[in-house]
Amino acid sequence: MYLKKLEQVSANRTDGKKLQLNLTTNGTTIERVGKSILASTAVRQVNFSTHAYAELPFDEAAENLQNVLDFCRMVAVARPDMYINLRLWNVGDESSNAWNKYMLEQVNKAFGHVDNADKNRADSADKNRATITLEHFCSRHKSFLVEGRIYIHQDSRFEWPEVSGSSPTSTTSQTLKALGSAQPAYLKGTCRALDTHCAILHDGRVVACCLDHSGQITLGHIQENSLAEILTSPMATNIREGFANHELRHPFCQSCKFCKRFK
Ligand code: SF4
Repeated sequence: MYLKKLEQVSANRTDGKKLQLNLTTNGTTIERVGKSILASTAVRQVNFSTHAYAELPFDEAAENLQNVLDFCRMVAVARPDMYINLRLWNVGDESSNAWNKYMLEQVNKAFGHVDNADKNRADSADKNRATITLEHFCSRHKSFLVEGRIYIHQDSRFEWPEVSGSSPTSTTSQTLKALGSAQPAYLKGTCRALDTHCAILHDGRVVACCLDHSGQITLGHIQENSLAEILTSPMATNIREGFANHELRHPFCQSCKFCKRFK
């Protein structure tokens, strides 16, 4: 965790704009690190990939979820300004239905959401506390209020960008080499990465966006370089200028379908 360093970066800014950190995690260590996150004023939002638990043995998945919900309850009391997204980004995947149903039941239980039969007994102030179910999901309504600034965010599975010939452990230079034989899928396109945001992996590597979980676009390391140095490096500048000109200059971005959402 590099929260202290990032808090310092935020405090040192002279333009008055604070860094806003969004943490995205599978939450498996939240029992250990939750108090540090709560204490960090730089953290604006925490995203929990609770859909990942569908792949785990049930007991392990249930324990992880319980730890995440315990953290959410602490946030509701101690940090009501903090946003939490409980992600279920596997809607429509039938093999995940049993987990998703269980997960929503636990959230409803933890935050006192009542089913339709009991809803009539709830007063009008409680109408936001109706049970959240999978059936409520539709492409135009993906986010459901749980409590305060805690939300369930449902979405369908997306495809991770991947350069043909590279692997999750490939370095940037290996990825660039692999591109030599790969035909880029998309050359035209844009993205807001490196303009409104960048991402920092768990080991401190700074990358352009959170889709790059294996560091294919490693721009620097937060322990070795300042964030300003990293974001003004030749590679970062080249990628950012490309986006401004509707050019996907990095091979990893050329394999990205997510950026097709941006015009
Ligand atoms: S184009 Fe895709 S892979 Fe590249 S920075 Fe944007 S979201 Fe990430």
